[in-house]
Amino acid sequence: MIRINENYLKLKASYLFSDIAKRVGAYTAANPDKPVIRLGIGDVTEPLAPSVLKAFHAGVDEMAVRATFKGYGPEQGYAFLREAIAAHDYAARGCPIAADEIFVSDGSKCDCGNIQEIFATEGLKLAIPDPVYPVYVDTNVMAGRTGTNLDGRYQCITYLDCTPANGYVPAIPSGASDLIYLCFPNNPTGAVATREQLAAWVAYAKANKALILFDSAYEAYIRDPKIPHSIYEIPGADEVAIEFRSFSKTAGFTGTRCAYTVVPKKLQAYDAAGNAHGVHALWNRRHTTKFNGVSYPVQKAAAAIYTPEGQAEVKAMTDFYLANAALIRKAMNDLGFSTVGGDNAPYIWVNTGTDSWAFFDKLLNEAQVVCTPGAGFGKCGEGHVRISAFNSRENVEKALVRIAAALKKA
Ligand SMILES: *Cc1c(COP(=O)(O)O)cnc(C)c1O
Repeated sequence: MIRINENYLKLKASYLFSDIAKRVGAYTAANPDKPVIRLGIGDVTEPLAPSVLKAFHAGVDEMAVRATFKGYGPEQGYAFLREAIAAHDYAARGCPIAADEIFVSDGSKCDCGNIQEIFATEGLKLAIPDPVYPVYVDTNVMAGRTGTNLDGRYQCITYLDCTPANGYVPAIPSGASDLIYLCFPNNPTGAVATREQLAAWVAYAKANKALILFDSAYEAYIRDPKIPHSIYEIPGADEVAIEFRSFSKTAGFTGTRCAYTVVPKKLQAYDAAGNAHGVHALWNRRHTTKFNGVSYPVQKAAAAIYTPEGQAEVKAMTDFYLANAALIRKAMNDLGFSTVGGDNAPYIWVNTGTDSWAFFDKLLNEAQVVCTPGAGFGKCGEGHVRISAFNSRENVEKALVRIAAALKKA
């Protein structure tokens, strides 16, 4: 008899995006003359940059000629891309990360979902933020680390509450943790962590022989020069942290697929007897066993981001989204809401002070604007909505006029 992994039965069904789609579908069916504007999505809208596209095309052409054709490449990524990443994203910021500590992949979602496989399933103490990108929680549920969900929370997770009181940057837990998930700039809140806050997490991880999984998918949106772009800007972080980066939000690669994970060689984890083992070797084994590399043209396209033209083009792209974000943040502040995010992230987290689904319905019905109800990201998301800056300027401006009209009425 074929049996299932019963941990899957413990997953709390996420109805967030299907619920949103249902409500939007019902509204548009009833009001076909009132087009809605979607500021709910976490997907980019701008096309690939010209130099990225040029490299992508050239990569495809190489595949069509016997002399330059490529079959399987290195599972960890081509040296030209790993070296460009090490030089531009790490050496340039004084981070001690070498090219062979970088694992190129087809996405950060898969990487931050897969990484837990190399750690123990029994007795590992998890610390995970709330609100949260659901991948961190659900992949640990699947692996059997979390216990059951009681009242919306899993028994064996220490939730790191992100609230107005702590500026949406969680406090360090009083007890010990083994595996800690952090995401800055944050999805969904758009909050960023200061150097001091990150240093405190690194010190906590060291003291506990713990490991930090640092998701910095939105690093390219940081504009405040005091905010670290990488956790490895904190001395000693290469002994306690894995970092995930993606070209998805950096350069519009959500449909092209390329990302990378940094696993420093200094990183150690322990067996039941307390013997230390290199995490790099474990991840290398896992990655090369289960993954066969990102396609060559895609890696060529990603490498073009690091050319001077590519850098300028993708900076212009994130500048564009950040200008949308600034408009959204100002409009919501002018309406009297306190917000976080939008200055170093493409998301604005609005403290509505009311039921987040009720606020969602009000924006949909009265302004024909779609946002994302905070409750869908966790208990601490209640009382908030996420507004995304990923849209055209015209749509953002139109949406803000409608939101102001709808909320001023109330
Ligand atoms: C978008 C996003 C990613 C990137 O996912 P990809 O699989 O690389 O497209 C990772 N983490 C967070 C929090 C994100 O929002």
